Amino acid sequence: MFECDEKRMKDKIDTFSKFGDAGHGGITRYSLSPEAHQARDEFAKRMKAIGATIETDDMANMYATLPGTESGLKRIVMASHCDSVKNGGNYDGILGVMGAMEVLETIAASKIPHRHPITAMIWTNEEGSLYPPAMMSSGVVTGKFDKAKMLASKSVLDPSQTFAMALDASPYKGSEKNRLSPKDYLAMFELHIEQGPILEAAKKDIGVVTCVLGMCNYRVRTYGQADHAGTTPMSYRKDALFASAQLLIHLHEQLDKLPKDLVYTTGEIKCHPCVHTVIPDEVDFSIDARHEKPEVVAQVVDILKGIPKEIAKCRTETALAWERDTVYFDKNLVSYVKESADELGISNQYINSGAGHDAQFVSYLMPTTMIFVPSKDGHSHCEIEYTSPKQCTAGASVMLNAVLKADSRMN
Ligand SMILES: [Zn+2]
Repeated sequence: MFECDEKRMKDKIDTFSKFGDAGHGGITRYSLSPEAHQARDEFAKRMKAIGATIETDDMANMYATLPGTESGLKRIVMASHCDSVKNGGNYDGILGVMGAMEVLETIAASKIPHRHPITAMIWTNEEGSLYPPAMMSSGVVTGKFDKAKMLASKSVLDPSQTFAMALDASPYKGSEKNRLSPKDYLAMFELHIEQGPILEAAKKDIGVVTCVLGMCNYRVRTYGQADHAGTTPMSYRKDALFASAQLLIHLHEQLDKLPKDLVYTTGEIKCHPCVHTVIPDEVDFSIDARHEKPEVVAQVVDILKGIPKEIAKCRTETALAWERDTVYFDKNLVSYVKESADELGISNQYINSGAGHDAQFVSYLMPTTMIFVPSKDGHSHCEIEYTSPKQCTAGASVMLNAVLKADSRMN
């Protein structure tokens, strides 16, 4: 068994936390911003220092590769992202990049023999914070998203700016032939923070991730009648917002009868005309529900489709926005992660991912899996996001040994 170096890991955490430091403990580091380029420069500098070859592809995804001892073998890649949400933390995404670097640095420092080339990788624009959508580059590389549409994505801060412009201005835009593909790559690992409270509550240092939860995303609408807020007696009203409020309570009551590990959220609401003197005539809200089992997601859909046709004198309607099936990670890779954590004596448990990650797209191309480390108090996508250097290093050590198992057992 090999172990990564906590001091070197902490140095990386401290260094990368400076790129986009927002001044109160976290970072704002949009993809392809000057701050993100500082992080990429640091990645390139440290990887070149151990003799890795740096390549970039047409989406500016970055690859640092150490050669293996046998020629003609495919690469094993460890990847995550270095961009953040606005006022995000120092671990989401970048931990997977730092962990990948740490694995290569340990391999180089301890001269650990390996047959396959091993690559540390940065995915461009995973968060999609400035240029939506999320998981943009892994979506393009895996054929889930249309590249031309992604290039046209407009900055949420300045619609005159497109993702294509940011890409063209980046020194890290490279060639399409360098893209991660099953032709050149054997397997992918992604180390990531859990972004939830489960591992910490269970006092486990490693989450052996088995799947990314299936989900459905619906729009629910209520239609009433716009009228004057001062002249319309209450009994005459068809208030679409009040109807939506009633409907939301109805949905919570029904959905709470399903298995306790179902998660569902209404995070977006549009009220028309959204004027304080006008009774709303149209309200549209989202409902996002996630569960591993398709039959539970199907029960959610039944509840949504079975809502009363009319509520508080307003007509109701539901429409599917999008859905995805549960994505199971590769059984062999999952077992390498589990074995590695057990052999290192690091407390661990199986876990699923409620959040989407680049690994979920890549799993359609090649064997892929993820490793989670705990998030303090479950917080993420905020400045207080925290995982201790010891836990981060444990995650990297598990990834190192899992990669070495893949190296010796896969071809
Ligand atoms: Zn992430």
